[in-house]
Amino acid sequence: MATERKAVFLFFGGTGDLAYRKLYPSLFNLYRKGNLRSHFAVIGTSRAKMDDDKFRAAIKKSLADSGNRTDSKEASDFVSHFYYQDHDVTDTAHYAVLKDLMDKLDKKYKAEGHRIFYLSMAPQFFGTIAQDLKTQGLLSEGNDVFNRLVIEKPFGRDYDSARLLNDALSKSFDEDQIFRIDHYLGKEMIQNIEALRFGNTLVESLWNNRYIDNIQVTLSEKLGVEERASYYDNSGALRDMVQNHIMQIVSLLAMEQPVAFTDTDIRAEKVKALRSLRVYNVADAATNFVRGQYGSINEQADYRHEDNVPHDSTTETFVAGKLLFDNYRWSGTPFYIRTGKMLADKFTRVDVVFKRPLVDIFAFPQSQNTPLAANVLTIFVEPHAGFSLQLNAKTNDTGFSTEPIKLDYLVDAQKSKDTPEPYERLLHDVLKGDGTNFSSWPEVSYAWKFVDQIRRVWDLQEPQFPNYTPHSMGPAAAEELIQRDHREWVYRLNN
Ligand code: NAD
Repeated sequence: MATERKAVFLFFGGTGDLAYRKLYPSLFNLYRKGNLRSHFAVIGTSRAKMDDDKFRAAIKKSLADSGNRTDSKEASDFVSHFYYQDHDVTDTAHYAVLKDLMDKLDKKYKAEGHRIFYLSMAPQFFGTIAQDLKTQGLLSEGNDVFNRLVIEKPFGRDYDSARLLNDALSKSFDEDQIFRIDHYLGKEMIQNIEALRFGNTLVESLWNNRYIDNIQVTLSEKLGVEERASYYDNSGALRDMVQNHIMQIVSLLAMEQPVAFTDTDIRAEKVKALRSLRVYNVADAATNFVRGQYGSINEQADYRHEDNVPHDSTTETFVAGKLLFDNYRWSGTPFYIRTGKMLADKFTRVDVVFKRPLVDIFAFPQSQNTPLAANVLTIFVEPHAGFSLQLNAKTNDTGFSTEPIKLDYLVDAQKSKDTPEPYERLLHDVLKGDGTNFSSWPEVSYAWKFVDQIRRVWDLQEPQFPNYTPHSMGPAAAEELIQRDHREWVYRLNN
């Protein structure tokens, strides 16, 4: 039986794409499951003018667009909890109107003073909004109430801007009240990394540099920039994907076992791991990271000819890199990462490549046997969720040769249909006050310090762009990066 959570939500950017496409349908799922029942209200706010009825109709449409039936009493009851108030976030005096509405709805729905402020809009407004929420009295008071601030990425564009933003938020909210969304942390198989590692002696006892040769993290996108070009061109793959999603995944893979399965303990271990990530000097940054930008093929324009992209853009749409941890567990075992747009396919996966046996007794001089393959544990994050473990076994014949075989676990279609969307999990976590699957400030700051160093080196050189063909796995330099170490990417085209 789901536990009912009580709160009044205030969504800034309440008419935006993210709110309609992800946030409201996720709230509806929580409502259907009983996590939200009668003691909640949602206020949407943006500059647009509309009344509650029009807003409720838009919410119904957003539910329908995400595959829900909306002719039910359940859907009508749900949308009856939604209210709209137009508001310019830079108009301090006008926060009084939002305060009155929040207070009124709090009483009406007996939400017991619990408040969730969700900033789903451009980050340049985050500091102002946080400040005005506090100074204009929107934070409720009392020992048993909560005020939680949820913010979308990007969290700054380098360490300095992130620190300024954090300082601004910290004036109004404590760290444990701030929930920095990284929706990758809401994905089922990313959360499963902890279960896989700390729930299995077999896995965790081998999870170190003695047995693991290297770990590869690939976040591959098939599409180009689409309609996000103006944002993306200012950001690039390093800021857009590596600083947040990839660093979060890597820290879950690299961290030590937490004392307990609590947000405080998990975050402490992730921070410790990130602290031992080697921040490269100029020469190492240039050697260990490569960038790319897609060219054209057939009807597909190159990146520089996409709408809203300058023709001389030097923004990278691809990054690959090698990360090194200077600690007892990982010294000598590199983590290779890559991400990019317009690649061969859309998927996210982690490949853990184990060391080959020290002695291959099957490779005696007269044997025809091919050398033993490495054991590889693959964590499939999306589009299909599951694991695969590659082992060596004897071939089924009279001779004695070995061949790699795979033990596969794939989440079945029904289970994946029932798997909550990342935003549903994360909104539920916010309601529970569980920060496990959000980025803490120390994590964000270490990730920026690492990424800034790469950026600094790149900004000194003019890249030779475009340098990869659409629907490939990136530039030749990404292959060279790993081949130099006598290794290869586990996921390759046509394997
Ligand atoms: P959007 O442009 O569709 O929506 C922005 C919202 O902010 C609108 O409701 C707009 O009316 C409102 N707004 C803008 N200026 C305002 C002002 N001065 N006062 C009041 N309201 C104002 O953006 P989006 O795609 O919904 O994204 C919102 C945030 O989430 C952004 O920070 C984005 O980077 C982040 N994000 C979006 C996605 C996505 O899939 N759309 C994914 C990850 C992160």
